[in-house]
Amino acid sequence: MENIFSYTRDMLEDYFKSIGEKSYKATQVFEWLYQRRIFSFNDMTNIKKDVIEKLNNEFDTSLIKIVKRLDDKDACKYLFELSDSNHIEAVVMKHNYGNSVCVSSQVGCNMGCAFCESGRLKKVRNLETFEMVEQILLIEKDLGIRLSSVVVMGIGEPFDNYDNLIKFLSIINDAKGLAIGARHITVSTSGLVPKILEFADFPLQINLAISLHAPYNELRNKLMPVNKAYSIEVLIDAIKKYYAKTNRRITIEYVMLKGVNDSEEDAKKLASLLKGLNVYVNLIPYNETNHIEFKATNKNDVLKFGKILQDNNITVTIRKKYGEYIQAACGQLRSKEVERWNHFI
Ligand code: SAH
Ligand code: SF4
Repeated sequence: MENIFSYTRDMLEDYFKSIGEKSYKATQVFEWLYQRRIFSFNDMTNIKKDVIEKLNNEFDTSLIKIVKRLDDKDACKYLFELSDSNHIEAVVMKHNYGNSVCVSSQVGCNMGCAFCESGRLKKVRNLETFEMVEQILLIEKDLGIRLSSVVVMGIGEPFDNYDNLIKFLSIINDAKGLAIGARHITVSTSGLVPKILEFADFPLQINLAISLHAPYNELRNKLMPVNKAYSIEVLIDAIKKYYAKTNRRITIEYVMLKGVNDSEEDAKKLASLLKGLNVYVNLIPYNETNHIEFKATNKNDVLKFGKILQDNNITVTIRKKYGEYIQAACGQLRSKEVERWNHFI
C-alpha cells in the first residue's frame, strides 16, 4: 500500500482515471487532506462509498510519530519516529513575519562533511515523500499554527533523494496542497552538480542554496568530500548555467569555522571567486557540537569577513542563531537522536 501523502495531485488524478473516475476527485481528496486536515477517507463526505472503499484498499494514511518536542524562545525542535523506528528531526523557527520550518530529507547523510553532525552517521535511507510532508502536517497540528516558509536543510542531502524531494515540493506548493509559495521554499545542497542542473528545469520558482564553505579546492576537499567529485570550478559553472536558465539568484552558504575558513585572505578569495556572479552570500555562525573539533568564529570576525565581501559588491546576510540552547539549528541535526535528546531532558 502506498501512503497518500506521497502522492502529488497529478499522480492522484492518474489514479482516478485508471479506475474510471473523474480526475477532479483528486482535488477533492487534496482539499480534505490539506485544507480541512481530515485524514480518514471515510470522513470525506462528498466522495461516493464505492470510491472510498477503493481508496481504503489502495492507500495508507498512517502518520509518523512525534516523540519529543523541545522549546526555546524563538525555536522549537521536534523528534519524529518513523514506522521502521528510525528517527529524524525538524525545527520550527519563529520570526516576526511568520513561522518557518527546517525539514529533514534523509535518515543520516552520506556526504561526510567534516563539521556536520548529520554526516557523522552514514545515510540509513532516503525519506519517502510522505515522511517529509508529514513533518509539516504534524507540526502545524501540534502548534496550532500555519508554517509560512519551508527550508530543506535538516538531516540529509536533498539532491541525493531527488525524486522524493520533487514530489514533496510539488505537494507543499500546490494551491490545493499546503499552498506554500515557491518563493517561501528553499532547498540547500552540498553541491551535487548534475542535480543542480536538473533542478534548473523544475518549473517552480523555488530558492536554491548551495553550501560552499571554502573558497579554494584544497580546503573544500577537506571539509566537504563532495568537492572531489564536483570541484569549485565545476560548481561555479553549474551556478552560472542555473542562473542563465532560471534567472533566480542562488544563495551561497558559508559556515564560519574559526581558524579554518574565516581569515581576511579567505574573504578576499571568496570575493574574487564570486565576482560577477548573481549570488547572495549567507554567513552561517557555526554551532559547536560535543563531538567535533571545529569552533565557531567570533562575532567580530564574522562581521569583518562580511564587510570584505560587501566592499567587493557582494550581497551578504548573516544568519541569526536559532535555538542554540536546544541545539536546534539547521544542519546540526543528526539521526542517532535518542542518546543526545536524553542528554538535554
Ligand atoms: N545537506 C544539505 C542540507 C542540509 S545542511 C547541505 O549540506 O547543504 C544545511 C546547512 O547547515 C549546510 O549549509 C550545512 O553545511 C550547515 N551546517 C552543518 N552543520 C552545521 C553546524 N554545526 N553549524 C552550522 N551550520 C551547519
Ligand atoms: Fe550532509 Fe549537508 Fe551535513 Fe554535508 S552539511 S554531511 S551534505 S547534511
